[in-house]
Amino acid sequence: MSPTPTQAHDEMSDTLLELAKEFQAQIEIKDRKYRLKTYKDTFVGSEAVDYLVSSGKAATRTEAVSLGQVLQVNFHLFEHVTRDHDFADDGLFFRFLTDNERGGLSRDESGNSLRWQNFLGTPDGLTNQIGLQPSFPKNDILPDKDQHVVNQVWPLDEYNRTLLNNVHPPGWRDPAVASDKDLYYDMVVIGGGTAGLITAAGSAGVGAKVALIEAHMLGGDCLNVGCVPSKTIIHSANLAHQVQNQTHLAEAGIAVEGHVTVDFEKVMERVRKIRSTISHHDSAERYSKELGVEIYIGWAMFTSERTVEVNGKTLHFKKAAIATGGYPVLLPMPGLQEIYKKAQDSGAVTNESRPQVMTNETVFNLTKRPENMVVIGAGVIGLELAQALQRLGVGVTVLGRSGRVLPKEDEDMGLVVKNQMIQDGVDFRLTVQDYKKIELTGKVLENGYPEMKLTLQEKGNYEPTVLYCDAVLIAAGRAPNVSGMNLEAAKVQFDNKMGVHVNDNLQTSNKRIYGVGDVCSDFKFTHAADFMARAVIRNALFFGKEKMSELLISYATFTSPEIASVGLYEDDLKAKNIAFRVFEKHFKDNDRAIADDATDGWVRFRVDAKTDKILGASIVGVGAGNMISEVTLAMQSSTGLGSLANVIHPYPTTAEVLRQSGDLYNKTKLTMTAKKILRGVVKLQR
Ligand SMILES: Cc1cc2nc3c(=O)[nH]c(=O)nc-3n(C[C@H](O)[C@H](O)[C@H](O)COP(=O)(O)OP(=O)(O)OC[C@H]3O[C@@H](n4cnc5c(N)ncnc54)[C@H](O)[C@@H]3O)c2cc1C
Repeated sequence: MSPTPTQAHDEMSDTLLELAKEFQAQIEIKDRKYRLKTYKDTFVGSEAVDYLVSSGKAATRTEAVSLGQVLQVNFHLFEHVTRDHDFADDGLFFRFLTDNERGGLSRDESGNSLRWQNFLGTPDGLTNQIGLQPSFPKNDILPDKDQHVVNQVWPLDEYNRTLLNNVHPPGWRDPAVASDKDLYYDMVVIGGGTAGLITAAGSAGVGAKVALIEAHMLGGDCLNVGCVPSKTIIHSANLAHQVQNQTHLAEAGIAVEGHVTVDFEKVMERVRKIRSTISHHDSAERYSKELGVEIYIGWAMFTSERTVEVNGKTLHFKKAAIATGGYPVLLPMPGLQEIYKKAQDSGAVTNESRPQVMTNETVFNLTKRPENMVVIGAGVIGLELAQALQRLGVGVTVLGRSGRVLPKEDEDMGLVVKNQMIQDGVDFRLTVQDYKKIELTGKVLENGYPEMKLTLQEKGNYEPTVLYCDAVLIAAGRAPNVSGMNLEAAKVQFDNKMGVHVNDNLQTSNKRIYGVGDVCSDFKFTHAADFMARAVIRNALFFGKEKMSELLISYATFTSPEIASVGLYEDDLKAKNIAFRVFEKHFKDNDRAIADDATDGWVRFRVDAKTDKILGASIVGVGAGNMISEVTLAMQSSTGLGSLANVIHPYPTTAEVLRQSGDLYNKTKLTMTAKKILRGVVKLQR
């Protein structure tokens, strides 16, 4: 019988491991000098090739190089001393990596790396929610409120186990310390979300010795409880909407026979699957082995202006970055804290037996579909999830205080989204004055979720409103993670609302320490965290002077239709006393939008009153999130609205509205005299 692919793979790995051991034992390792610098314990590429060929491991020098590269890239056996080169048949120096030099997986007695499967077993493990927090050092001496990280992952199916194996491996070993010198870093990064990961990888990539400390799950909000799971659920929701929208389908000449159903459990399983697939990118192993970052899984706490403590070790830094992100805040509503505590109860046998009071940190743990969900908050997170869940068959009511949705965006544009959501079936109550009470009714619904009763006071109503539901999603605002880190010891100024205080170069009040990402910025987006991190690397390591104020950050709300904006809004311009003009082009006049039956929405340019300089723009409509980047590029490259008229767009595309807006601008440039002359020329040509 021929071996299965797995057996064959295992045999191949064993042979290579054997080869790796021999290779390491036979190669000459010693200190070597290059341009006055001594590189400790190194071997030379061409000498290694000599060995591989003379020992018969490789038939030719070319084959030896390929083999060496496999040992370097796939087995992370060694690396170039400055991590700049692949293994080659030349005089470059390489050094072997020790097993947990930059942190590593724990191993059992047989040398196999530990996985969450080893601890959780089956099938019991599947029913227990896991709270990883209690195993963290220091947790017992800090009050709960002082530590906030996502700490619940459920269910523990194969996907969530893979996720955890990647982003919070069980028993991850701190980087090996041979002497105190090993604990001195060029850069210590606290928090392993987008901001921290990019800061750490970028710094290590330019040769710095970097420690990255993550208290819970590498990838932070974006991977685990933010962008990735929310966009995945939105994908299913939009598919469901398309096939369920019979009028729309009938108009397009399509009839769906039979009943379309949504398998909610499957939808949520796909969310977990996609998240686990992507989690490899942010994994502890990839960051330590491939990207050269020393990983600590633990809670970071400053002990002085130049030291951080983690897992009982004191790390010394030349520079540090605080990238601890933020967390969703609960509302002051009588009864909420008590029910929320029950919802978090890690002793509960199944997820279903808990009251479903959730934030973005737990909503993706849902497996059963709630019947009625109240979403508190009409901002980006609230609306995206409210629409998605409604489209997946949950009856959703959105609550807010301000009378409108998406308060950051222009009100009329937000209304386009709201109207679509009303058509989808979402109920809005946007003038709540007082959240009076939330309580359990004692009834348990068919899905296993306890029923809750929410009492609130709406503006203009004499009687309070009573809502019954089996799920509450709180998306009413976020607060920065600034407590429990002893920022005082580091002399870093902060407050609980704005987070860590930074100057325009992202430096805190301690000039060695930088702030990056959600913890110190109004722009709470992954791409903003990414570009802030790049600025921090340049400023901290290369005496750069990158300014936060010079980052042009666009953003999108991924409802349908989408809203996307960049630059200044009308209110900003008025506040700054800048005279401006507005140019708008509607999708109802766009051929592609008409063909696609997606005519809701428009683009709005805010342009300097005297020139065609674009000061800001917003788009509401299908594909707005993609389209806004063209405007961003124009603004960044100082391309005026008039010049956009000359950009040839493929026909028919919705992005033509951008070019057409340029035409609108150019028309206003034609003075009466110019118009007369042009008409004269045209007449002459007839
Ligand atoms: C539901 C939702 C959907 C979103 N969708 C989008 C989107 O579509 N597009 C977009 O651009 N943005 C989106 N965002 C925003 C995006 O997720 C954040 O802007 C981004 O994650 C910020 O990254 P960060 O690194 O600053 O913080 P985080 O991702 O919050 O990471 C901070 C990390 O620090 C760790 N930490 C905290 N304190 C300590 C400590 N003392 N020691 C060690 N570690 C610590 C935490 O465990 C966490 O992992 C969404 C957010 C949510 C909630």
